[in-house]
Amino acid sequence: MKVFVINCGSSSLKFQLIDSESEKCLAKGLCERIGIDGSMITYAPEGGEKEKAISPMPDHTEAIRLVLEALTNPKTGVVKNLDEIGAVGHRVVHGGEKFAESVVIDAEVLAAVEECNDLAPLHNPANLIGINACRKLMPNTPMVGVFDTAFHQTMPEEAYLYGLPYEYYRKYKIRRYGFHGTSHSYVSARAAAVLGKQYDELKIIVCHLGNGASISAVKNGKCVDTSMGLTPLEGLIMGTRSGDIDPAIIEFLAHKEGKGIDEIMSVLNKKSGVLGLSENLSSDFRDLEDGYNKGDVNAIRALKTYCYRVAKYIGSYVAAMNGVDVICFTAGVGENAPLVRSFVCEHLGYLGIELDEEANHKRGEDIAVTTPGSRTTVMVIPTNEELAIARETVRLVG
Ligand code: ADP
Repeated sequence: MKVFVINCGSSSLKFQLIDSESEKCLAKGLCERIGIDGSMITYAPEGGEKEKAISPMPDHTEAIRLVLEALTNPKTGVVKNLDEIGAVGHRVVHGGEKFAESVVIDAEVLAAVEECNDLAPLHNPANLIGINACRKLMPNTPMVGVFDTAFHQTMPEEAYLYGLPYEYYRKYKIRRYGFHGTSHSYVSARAAAVLGKQYDELKIIVCHLGNGASISAVKNGKCVDTSMGLTPLEGLIMGTRSGDIDPAIIEFLAHKEGKGIDEIMSVLNKKSGVLGLSENLSSDFRDLEDGYNKGDVNAIRALKTYCYRVAKYIGSYVAAMNGVDVICFTAGVGENAPLVRSFVCEHLGYLGIELDEEANHKRGEDIAVTTPGSRTTVMVIPTNEELAIARETVRLVG
């Protein structure tokens, strides 16, 4: 079956067409600046040239129409007509407590997703717009929603509750939800498969380090804890997000800087993380690694602080699972920054980790980066959220 995978943001839309039998991506691309002047579509068929075109996209329906046109284009398309697309898989950011699994989308599901909008006001409404636009253009094609939060729904109460009055959980469902679940699930299962071990007999820690970053503890195939919380601001230090801070800093800063809550939240989301720590050198780890190699103190400070936080979380998840067998690194930074992996592992001598520096410098493979004698295995597993969404879609409608 050919599965159209869509990840819809408020002004952008990423897509892939995946053949579920070969698990190959047949075409992929991106629509940017939807609803803004200068909308642009990028389309690349597998093995073909990448094309970019400026084309007006006043809304997501028009963006999806253009994508479908590109996929069926007689010259560069990869299907003859839309009937060849068997199903659509949509990434949905927040499924609240309602969705512990992917679901086939119908009117009832749409209403339930809408109820979660409060919990992810930037993401869920955009996801819903994408789903509705797709339903309009492909009314007879089954659609599946795959939630970023679903994999984490197995966390026990002691891991997902905050130390707040319990009535806030009862009234507003304030709790840890966690994000990047599709990636944590895919990477942990893949690590077990690559090692030839039983997924349900392993203790795995997954470090998903991208622009946003989160870490999870996966025990016997189930998530037992994760670092992002009610929102994706909690946990690790990220590209521009602060991660964990003393909550009293918000009031302290508001007084000192004469700023409102919204402004402080914007600082925590957009001006903090390694960008803020490096005195605005960069949020991109390629720049920070360059800076580190040149001895730039701002880059060194940002990288060291970032890696210390990752190592500290690993320690707490070793405690949560009473041990660890495998630690996986994934996503943009986790897959491509050997320096970050090496700094994190410097803190983990107590786990008997011995890094294999040659393997640590390889790219793009599922690979163990520790020596065969290392007591704990550290791996790099490139994530593939689109493939995971396509698999879920076929599982439900195939
Ligand atoms: P997201 O999906 O959260 O937008 P990604 O997982 O694509 O993010 O990660 C993007 C980040 O990965 C970039 O901001 C950059 O810091 C980092 N990155 C990408 N390529 C490299 C590289 N070759 N070396 C170091 N870091 C890299």
